[in-house]
Amino acid sequence: MSKQKSSEKDIIASLDRLPAREEIYENLQKKFGSLAEYYGFELIFTPPIEHYRQYLPLIRGGYMDERIPVQCRCRPGSDYVLRVSGILSALRAYISHKMSDGPQPVKLVFEGDVFFAESKREDAIKSRYECGLLIAGEEGPVAAAEIVQIFWKILDGIGVDLRELELRVNAIGCASCYPSFRSSLASYFRSRASRLCRSCRKAAKSHPVRALSCADEKCKMFAKHAPQVLDFLCDQCKKQLRGFLEFLDELKVPYYLDPRFFRDGLWFNTLIFEFSGKAKEKPVSAVAVEGGGAEDVAGGDNNDVSAEEHEGAIVIGEGGGCTKAAELLSGKRVEAVGFELYIDRLIMFLSRRRLVDSKKPMVFLTHLGDLAKRKSLALMETLRGGGIEVKESLGRDSIKSQLKLAEKAEAKFALIMGQKEALDDTIIVREVGSGIQETIPQEKLIEFLKAKLKK
Ligand SMILES: [Zn+2]
Ligand SMILES: [Zn+2]
Repeated sequence: MSKQKSSEKDIIASLDRLPAREEIYENLQKKFGSLAEYYGFELIFTPPIEHYRQYLPLIRGGYMDERIPVQCRCRPGSDYVLRVSGILSALRAYISHKMSDGPQPVKLVFEGDVFFAESKREDAIKSRYECGLLIAGEEGPVAAAEIVQIFWKILDGIGVDLRELELRVNAIGCASCYPSFRSSLASYFRSRASRLCRSCRKAAKSHPVRALSCADEKCKMFAKHAPQVLDFLCDQCKKQLRGFLEFLDELKVPYYLDPRFFRDGLWFNTLIFEFSGKAKEKPVSAVAVEGGGAEDVAGGDNNDVSAEEHEGAIVIGEGGGCTKAAELLSGKRVEAVGFELYIDRLIMFLSRRRLVDSKKPMVFLTHLGDLAKRKSLALMETLRGGGIEVKESLGRDSIKSQLKLAEKAEAKFALIMGQKEALDDTIIVREVGSGIQETIPQEKLIEFLKAKLKK
């Protein structure tokens, strides 16, 4: 096999999700979907492929610089791209199926893999598994706040410690006010180009907002005194931001307004927001501004949160206004707000916090002899039906190796069904850690385990 071929193979293999991980994914995705449905969002499935032609205006407008679409074709002239964003695909579906003709807004929940490259020069394909929400046919503070609120609740429902989360928000302007901010920022950085780092010097020309979040000490200093977007917002954008913050205050969702927060090179406009898991070493109270921001919107220097305080935090989801993106996709005005939750990042965050326990089975079912093996199957179903997380190794016959597996799986209890227990419908419950065991009737098992596991 040639060298190039093996690296191609690695790219694809790196996108595989292996069984152990898949279990966590499935669990999170199910919870996410059912909570979103509870809040009135309807599930939509879109194919993992889109028309390249339809994405061209977004690509040309620089709205996909951060996520470069992966192109594919089956014959010359028929070009496709792999799904780049669940928001964009759900928006495309809203447009294709003329959902704007029905009652508005349309609330959709979606999930699936997205694929993209981070640079035009790179071969490596990145993939992410996303769950997300789209409100189409309505834009503005209410829709954005509703999405934030639902995510807040969903993350709570998934088991995330909300004190460990940060919600960062900003208004990045619209087609009428952003250009003047951008040119003012560009000339600010251009006149200081010689003292900026190399990448900021380059960014000053094409993407000046990127220089606002540079980690370089000197650049940080310049970023601190750079023109602020809040001073450039048009009345409409100001009103949107004020409304958004007022809603968040009312919902008691803590946030911080970071005027140097942008998502340049993505499809968001007007309002943007991002959930991230706090950096491990950072004190819990460091940044979150609990309410109180709304009256300061146009004020300027009040929320002095710099981008560097964001370092080390894991961004687990981001969203914002998508009206501009919808317009570029469809050629007409479609108001929309969307949000994407990156499941991989959420898992990374949860596992860092050791919050994901669902992977560990509570009990491990073992058997001794053929009759016990047959009866184990039925018992396993009963346990699962009773809400007990159970693992087994029916393929193995040695009780010693089964108990070893129970230990390896970090199960709390091993259930042992031998010939005698299989005959008189009892079971031995053995605490894996201590080895203490007792025999109880099978019909009382669920009740017994539930009481034990509560402790
Ligand atoms: Zn504006
Ligand atoms: Zn820099």
